[in-house]
Amino acid sequence: MADKAGHAKEAEHQEKEIDVLEATQTVIHKALGKLGFSEEVFELMKEPMRMLTVRIPIKMDDGSTKIFTGFRAQHNDAVGPTKGGVRFHPDVTETEVKALSIWMSLKAGIVDLPYGGGKGGIICDPRNMSFPEVERLSRGYVRAISQIVGPTKDIPAPDVLTNSQIMAWMMDEYSRIKEFDSPGFITGKPIVLGGSHGRESATAKGVTICIREAAKRRGIELQGARIVIQGFGNAGSFLAKFMHDAGALVVGISDVQGALYDPEGLDIDYLLDRRDSFGTVSNLFKNTISNQELLEMDCDILVPAAIENQITEHNADRIKASIIVEAANGPTTMKATEMLYNRGILLVPDVLASSGGVTVSYFEWVQNNQGYYWTEEEVGTRLEKVMVTAFENVYRVAQMRNVDMRLAAYMVGVRKMAEASRFRGWI
Ligand code: GLU
Repeated sequence: MADKAGHAKEAEHQEKEIDVLEATQTVIHKALGKLGFSEEVFELMKEPMRMLTVRIPIKMDDGSTKIFTGFRAQHNDAVGPTKGGVRFHPDVTETEVKALSIWMSLKAGIVDLPYGGGKGGIICDPRNMSFPEVERLSRGYVRAISQIVGPTKDIPAPDVLTNSQIMAWMMDEYSRIKEFDSPGFITGKPIVLGGSHGRESATAKGVTICIREAAKRRGIELQGARIVIQGFGNAGSFLAKFMHDAGALVVGISDVQGALYDPEGLDIDYLLDRRDSFGTVSNLFKNTISNQELLEMDCDILVPAAIENQITEHNADRIKASIIVEAANGPTTMKATEMLYNRGILLVPDVLASSGGVTVSYFEWVQNNQGYYWTEEEVGTRLEKVMVTAFENVYRVAQMRNVDMRLAAYMVGVRKMAEASRFRGWI
């Protein structure tokens, strides 16, 4: 019985991850078609150019040895070295890592960075491992992939359940292998090891800029605008703070356990203060609603900042917000995207809205390469410029070509990579 349920869950999971890659390929195909590129270009771009699977033996604290499986996908390096985070999660799969590497290529194209997309992942649950076990796994992963990564080849960064401490161990391991200090091998490091000011809050900053730009286009004043944020992790919590500081009314937030909604506005400072290290806060309240209910509550701007497949054909018709800004990766399905577009809702897609993180990672890498470091203000000013330009470019293409913002973002995102591949004589 338990086995049957297990199989069903696994089948559902496999279906979901195949969906993510297939959905991405469908939009890339459409985007390349609209730009007039041939089928061969699509053939090149539909999968990563390189995909490495590694098995990492790790001594656990109890004396046993456990073998972990990890991946590193490099989508396309025509524009420059590949770049993207490493995720530690029990649900990581090869297909998901592939799709995520393609999204990184799109993000880099949209914010115009000299990178292609990469992504890594290890099937593990760091929440149930000791600090020394996580350190050994992080170092083991770097040893396993060291031949294909490097400051001018492929530059890792944090992602789901990885952080600056893990980046520090990885950088140290790489520097030992190569026998020279290599801060530019990885981004998202602690400031004392060559990290950049503003990296931690960069994703939320980028989302904030996209919200402001989208609101402007729709004639909505941010001062007093009602915002619902699904998720209270790194992106969601920084975003709640930024929105609150900008005078907006954060009327809803959620975490893995439940959601809070108050039409008068929530006390964000209090919630941030009481939030635990995994971003949980709703357990302190009696009157909670579900994550799904939260998405349908009355508001002007909705920000899904949690997990994939939250807005689907089943609830897209009941969303009340007039603007949706995707801070999470893949929170809206393709069918729902179409339904929202037909309803006149402005959706700012993940590959644009969440590209603030990789943008400041690029700034970190530039600072490491030149050995000269910027102030927080300098980082902020540069990020602002990059995000505003990216938003304008995508918005303009959406208007001119009469397409939704997701397809427009993909068109902007693939163009440079396709042209660079052609100039190199690959296609
Ligand atoms: N993991 C983040 C993302 O998905 C950041 C990647 C990076 O900084 O290279 O955008």
